[in-house]
Amino acid sequence: MGDTKSVSHNAEGLTRLFVAADLAAGVALVLPDAASHYLTHVLRAASGDGVRIFNGRDGEWDARIEKLAKFGVHLTVGERLRAQAAEPDLWLVFAPIKRAPIDYLAQKATELGVSRLQPVFTRYTAVSRVNVDRLRANAIEAAEQTGRLTVPEVAEPVTLDAMMAAWPRTRPLVVLDETGQGAPLAEALAGSTLRAASAVAILVGPEGGFAPAELDALRVLPFVTPVRLGPRILRADTAALSALACWQAWVGDWRDPPHGACR
Ligand code: SAH
Repeated sequence: MGDTKSVSHNAEGLTRLFVAADLAAGVALVLPDAASHYLTHVLRAASGDGVRIFNGRDGEWDARIEKLAKFGVHLTVGERLRAQAAEPDLWLVFAPIKRAPIDYLAQKATELGVSRLQPVFTRYTAVSRVNVDRLRANAIEAAEQTGRLTVPEVAEPVTLDAMMAAWPRTRPLVVLDETGQGAPLAEALAGSTLRAASAVAILVGPEGGFAPAELDALRVLPFVTPVRLGPRILRADTAALSALACWQAWVGDWRDPPHGACR
């Protein structure tokens, strides 16, 4: 995983690229430096080669490499392969952890279909800085590989207090509570509040865990559901990814028939 790489092969071996531009048949566009460099020098693409592109708004499109110029690869957009479709409105709110596990978390949460990655500073968070650009690069690369039509938003970090003060109260917040005082996750997901919610968020604490006062303050909020993930203490990344997988299986899009990305 490089900091600048933003091109990936999907399962069919065809390069998929996330681009910023509006997409429509016949549109010509020039890829930014990092993607151009990767196509030219790493994948050794040639003019005439096909790629697939998406921008999170206009679906997925076939595109052809017209020219590999010094200042960027020129593409022409062909036909639309997939229409933009609704995706789960699922936020992951997480206390920052060290570089390797946070990159991993951003990649895997993207594969699992989160719509927003929100870093949050809690009392026992040991990491003081978050490289949002690097997390975005991780999310883009994972979205390209996994066949998603969107890239999750990576929000600027906030403190837990500030986030809770501004919380959109119609969005249930599932708090992964390592003290074991919450309901088992499956039970909470079977309940009407979470099953009926069209938008939800999952909060995972730092390696140091939540402060008791933080959990006390969260537990009394009407939109918070504290849950436990079994009798073992999990690493933060394991806890977050396990909860996301369960949510997708019980409530989210794993219940739907196979879609385009699973061909
Ligand atoms: N140092 C803490 C563990 C923190 S684990 C301790 O020893 O108690 C990091 C985060 O993962 C926790 O804050 C929590 O959000 C989540 N987590 C880990 N294991 C969990 C479990 N069994 N149930 C619910 N959440 C868990």
